[in-house]
Amino acid sequence: MTFRFRALAALLCLACALPLPAAAKKNPAQNEKLNVQLEQELVTRYGETQRERAHRGIAQVADVWRAEDGDAMAYAAFVRDNFAGTPEALDAMFSRYEYNLEQIDGHLHEINRELRTPSDLDTGPLAAYDDLFAAYDPTAHLLDDFFANKLAQIALLNFPLTTLEQRLTDGQHWTRRQWAETRLAERFSKRIPAAVTQAIADSASDSEKYIAEYNIWMHHLVDAQGNRLFPAKLRLLSHWNLRDEVKADYSDPDHGLAKQRAIQKVMARIVTQEIPAAVIDNPGVDWNLDTNAVTPTTDADGEPRAHAPGGNAREPDTRYAMLLADFQARRKADPYSPTAPTYVQRVFDEDMQIPQERVKAMLEQVLASPLVARTAALIEKRLGRPLEPFDVWYNGFRPRGSYTEAQLDEIVARKYPTAAAYKQDMPNILLKLGFSAQRAQYLAGNIIVDPARGSGHAMGAEMRSANPHLRTRVEAGGMNYKGYNIAVHEMGHNVEQTFSLNDIDHTLLHGVPNTAFTEALAFTFQNRDLELLGLTKPDAQSAALKTLNDFWSTYEIAGVALVDAGIWNWMYAHPKATPAQVRAATVDLAREVWNRYYAPVFHQQDVVLLGIYSHMINSFLYLPNYPLGHMIAFQIEAQMQRAGDFGREFERVAKIGRVTPDQWMIAATGAPVGPEALLTSTAQALDQLGAP
Ligand SMILES: [Zn+2]
Repeated sequence: MTFRFRALAALLCLACALPLPAAAKKNPAQNEKLNVQLEQELVTRYGETQRERAHRGIAQVADVWRAEDGDAMAYAAFVRDNFAGTPEALDAMFSRYEYNLEQIDGHLHEINRELRTPSDLDTGPLAAYDDLFAAYDPTAHLLDDFFANKLAQIALLNFPLTTLEQRLTDGQHWTRRQWAETRLAERFSKRIPAAVTQAIADSASDSEKYIAEYNIWMHHLVDAQGNRLFPAKLRLLSHWNLRDEVKADYSDPDHGLAKQRAIQKVMARIVTQEIPAAVIDNPGVDWNLDTNAVTPTTDADGEPRAHAPGGNAREPDTRYAMLLADFQARRKADPYSPTAPTYVQRVFDEDMQIPQERVKAMLEQVLASPLVARTAALIEKRLGRPLEPFDVWYNGFRPRGSYTEAQLDEIVARKYPTAAAYKQDMPNILLKLGFSAQRAQYLAGNIIVDPARGSGHAMGAEMRSANPHLRTRVEAGGMNYKGYNIAVHEMGHNVEQTFSLNDIDHTLLHGVPNTAFTEALAFTFQNRDLELLGLTKPDAQSAALKTLNDFWSTYEIAGVALVDAGIWNWMYAHPKATPAQVRAATVDLAREVWNRYYAPVFHQQDVVLLGIYSHMINSFLYLPNYPLGHMIAFQIEAQMQRAGDFGREFERVAKIGRVTPDQWMIAATGAPVGPEALLTSTAQALDQLGAP
């Protein structure tokens, strides 16, 4: 886990909702004749070489100008006064923006970090006001402020907005400065009216609430004879707890299979909305999974509530009404997003920075791989039965280590009785990883170690004069193995954060292309945690099991991600759809993806389980990040092994910065983002385990 935040979070500002009259007024900058005249004036003043820049800059400003910014005269004066028409003026402007934005981001981040100290660190009891301080976001109005004082419009007048297509094709030939200019302009690429931002926040909070309360009371699932499989009081949140229960049930030899089959029925009825509305978050009724009938509970688990109206009536497509409302809200931002005019594009082109078609192709490459059938056969052999659909969540590829958890706890507690002991050993750990003595000292000196309240996390800095923080958990008897394992992972984040901010050429490019990259880099540390304790590293058998575990979860989530993306494309193609139609389309899609990529190994058609993820309803289009994350982790780990010199290689790749994922990966490994490294390791793992 890593905590970072950017000023762009201001796009989702809740407090800045004002009525819309100013924005609705005519934009005085949308005046073709005036803009042609302004362009000619700038060219006359600065020369023909500046025509392209002037043309582009004027268009970019005219796009975001509002009546409240000034009338046509004020707009013309603004353009004349703020165009940097000579290389010297442009260099000065670029440097000032780069430095000042680093200061703003950096200092606001420090405020945020300080305000969160009581909630993040082990500092004693928390008061209600601590939560309020922690939730306060000093960046919330930054973007609005920058449009109000026109620093945003000045940036747009002088630096280029680009589409993903341009970044992918032209970007390969850009200088680092051109990349930095692109990221500078990008910060101001959208000026979304407060009313639209508010509508998005409202619908998001509705679906958040809907998902957060979607509990199934498991003791109240009964069969025809009234038998109950699950213990009293067990309440599982869809889909996370239901899925994790499927995983846990593999270790219940008596009732595990029956429980898994029951959960599969529950999930299917949530997706199809055949679930009786009365059973959602209600311990007052029993639900017969064979007949789908609801009866007031005769069991003492929870106070029987009044039977919900409607009796057996199904949930009235509320799940899809939520999704549809979110779609309608997000669509309102489309006209204000010229370089990515749909939400789907904003996710793929701006957040992920890989075109949707390519993401889809990579997912399909995993789904259609012949390694799926080989892995499936191995799972059947290990389970001693044919696969059933819920086995997409099979979790039995867990390596048996050479040491028990208790032995590891003891070794770690002896070595690290306090957080200070870990801090003191950091240069040594870094040396063992392969950093030079000089780099190890430099890194250890830059990272501040704090005692975490929770399990631990890394919090990077946003300016060079501040430090990244490593938050570790140390129990009274010393650090345990779990805490150590997390600390090594988080330290990987801190090392990446140090290089990618302090040692990079442009702070505007600091960081990595997206979360998957920083996680992959942190895993390269975590994967070596036993060696760092001086213990033997996991044997080939354990490594193979771990790889198959990753491959199988990539296979599972790849299908889910295709359904998630598919339904958003469908909604854009059918913007007037009803909730019932969205439900039908989702069910069709889930079946289609299942029948193509899962039915061949599961030998069952028309399963709808791929539609169960709650992310589809409350964090749309986030799911493709998971399979991509696995692919990227395998690519980076393979590169670290290939390169040999871990320390130098880690520093080199951490300094590539926030270019596109493909450009980053080409610079790091010689190839764009893709599943090949994952598939190669999986084939080797299957051979290692003697799979057919
Ligand atoms: Zn992490």
